[in-house]
Amino acid sequence: MSELKNIFERICSQALKINDGTLARYIPELANVNPEQFAIAAMTVEGECISYGDDKSLFTLQSTSKPFTYGFALEERGEELVHSKIGVEPSGEAFDSIIELEKKTHRPFNPMINSGAIAIASMIQDKANNVREERVLNLFSELAGRQLDFNRDVFLSEKKTAHRNRAIAHLLRHFEVIGDDIEESLDLYFKQCSINSNVKDLAAMAATLANNGVQPSSKKRIYTEENTTRMISLMFSCGMYDSVGTWAYTVGIPAKSGVSGAIFGVVPGKMGIACFSPLIDSHGHSLKGVYAIRELTKQLGMNIFK
Ligand code: GLU
Repeated sequence: MSELKNIFERICSQALKINDGTLARYIPELANVNPEQFAIAAMTVEGECISYGDDKSLFTLQSTSKPFTYGFALEERGEELVHSKIGVEPSGEAFDSIIELEKKTHRPFNPMINSGAIAIASMIQDKANNVREERVLNLFSELAGRQLDFNRDVFLSEKKTAHRNRAIAHLLRHFEVIGDDIEESLDLYFKQCSINSNVKDLAAMAATLANNGVQPSSKKRIYTEENTTRMISLMFSCGMYDSVGTWAYTVGIPAKSGVSGAIFGVVPGKMGIACFSPLIDSHGHSLKGVYAIRELTKQLGMNIFK
């Protein structure tokens, strides 16, 4: 672990020299964050966690939440139902493309892009005394190993300005991928995106996937092995949107990014790694985060094809 700390330090000093990128201004509240922040963390499958930089800074999960709600829907509704509505192919399009439905079936290409994640949100149901928002927040709190919360300002900011996601949801309704609960499904999707966490929380979520679905600290099983494998497989083929090929070729681990500047990777059987730094590229990935996770994977020889 002390070797890891040295690597973190070296990577951080290099990453801080990268000054390109922009804040995700299309969600107005995300333009108010300090662009200088940088944090990195890793949690092993044994539950040891190490972090560096602004590791107490909170950020919203945005699309890093998508694999976890996908897994939740698999657990709750079963693979057959989930994939009768959503495909498993990379779209080759940007995360928010509205041409992201398969030609013949009109299903979203996969659960890692907005259309797929909105369809997933529509599948998560209320349970007695526990509305779906709470169930989703509980899920993420269990994954992180501590109680998390929604960031209300980010939620409202996205809800107010999400004309594109709203258009996607109506298209999904038109093709009967989702039902009449269009606004409710969008709200749940914006809420999962607005969950506040720090880089150690995200590393714990990633480590749960690395550990076959069992949260390494609490030892609680959150996903079955089968569903965890499904989640990681789709992260590998679709998690990095329209630059997933380059990511797979240069980094070689399943990963997922979010426009808040959060990004995480899973090294199956070993560890989960996470990074947060808000300046993003045109694909919606944190520039410093991509650099940091690529370097870490390289320096630890963790490319899964190696
Ligand atoms: N809430 C964001 C949106 O739907 C998530 C996008 C992302 O993080 O890639 O536009």
